Amino acid sequence: MITRAGLPAVVALASLTFALAPANAQTQLDDTERLLEELVNAHGVVGFEGEVRRILRREWQDLVPDLHTDGIGNLLGTFKGDENASGPKVLLMAHMDEVGFLVRYIDENGFIYFNNVGGYFPQSVLTQRLSILTPNGRVIGYTGMKSGHILRASERNEMVPLERMFIDVGASSREEVQRMGIRPGLPIAYETSFVKLGDTGRYLAKAWDDRIGLAVITEVLQSLGAHPNQVQIAATVQEENGLRGAAVVDASLHPDIVINLEIGIAADFPLMTSPALSQEALGNGPGIFIFDNSMIPNNQYIDWILSTADRHQIPTQFESVSGYGEDGAQLQRSSTGIPSVNIGIPTRYGHSQSGIIDRADYDNTVKLVRAMIENLSAEALTRIRTFE
Ligand SMILES: [Zn+2]
Repeated sequence: MITRAGLPAVVALASLTFALAPANAQTQLDDTERLLEELVNAHGVVGFEGEVRRILRREWQDLVPDLHTDGIGNLLGTFKGDENASGPKVLLMAHMDEVGFLVRYIDENGFIYFNNVGGYFPQSVLTQRLSILTPNGRVIGYTGMKSGHILRASERNEMVPLERMFIDVGASSREEVQRMGIRPGLPIAYETSFVKLGDTGRYLAKAWDDRIGLAVITEVLQSLGAHPNQVQIAATVQEENGLRGAAVVDASLHPDIVINLEIGIAADFPLMTSPALSQEALGNGPGIFIFDNSMIPNNQYIDWILSTADRHQIPTQFESVSGYGEDGAQLQRSSTGIPSVNIGIPTRYGHSQSGIIDRADYDNTVKLVRAMIENLSAEALTRIRTFE
């Protein structure tokens, strides 16, 4: 059963899949890949970050003795041994939540309607496997649509809005859906898992935004050298619906300077023809955000980061994106104004079912953050804060 127009493509796809299967097979994963795999596979839709928080508690509890949550769900603390240091308080921050959906209602025939939490291009949501997190575990369903056999000509070019999409979990009635443990309000994420793309050094997965930032923080804490500073960490909640968790981080930690870690918007694939939209490319190093909708960073801080990267021969690239906001902005406007920067690990296809990152960018981001912490001094902070 295939559409006539689709015949050659289907045949070509079948042989392509056959040819690629061995190259994409999961080989042995190293420690970093295992951490990334666990973090991206976790179910952590906005407001339901529990699975991610549990992984981080396990990873961070020995490194951050005062690890604790605040009332909104952020995970916070100060790096072991730094509590009595005299240098500036440097906050490393990344968010735990991922863009996703919430069950809105279940109709009498057992189809589930949903709303989005976080920004989506609706077309990317159709014909996807999604996973609903229930008290009994994950229930997998599918965002169905009319088969190509019965689409009207006028429908072929039409965008289906989110409110007309539904999830089919195989049930025939509302009661059957309820017996699966599904009720309105439960979180829905894409059902997909980490793939190491052969030996390209690139990885495919959902939720790089922002599990990759959390992985960078974890690896920095594990490998940090001697430094005079007080390193603080914040894994925030509800970034994707308006930077809400980050809004209360200052009340607990009072940092002096902030390094926010995020995905960057890679533009190195077909159809991305204008550097006016975004500029990053995989493999060219961490992206230093000089502009986004939420924040213009302290320019003295940017210059200090660039010279630190130069001295340590770490490649960096600039990133300037409108239509992008990040947690660092909330800290910049907290207290008396805290110098903040957003550093993005270049990622293709953000806010869709999956994205692709490059391991070299990840490793260079870990190196850069470590170099920043090890090189920051009270004098450098004063120069940044006085704009001199
Ligand atoms: Zn993000």
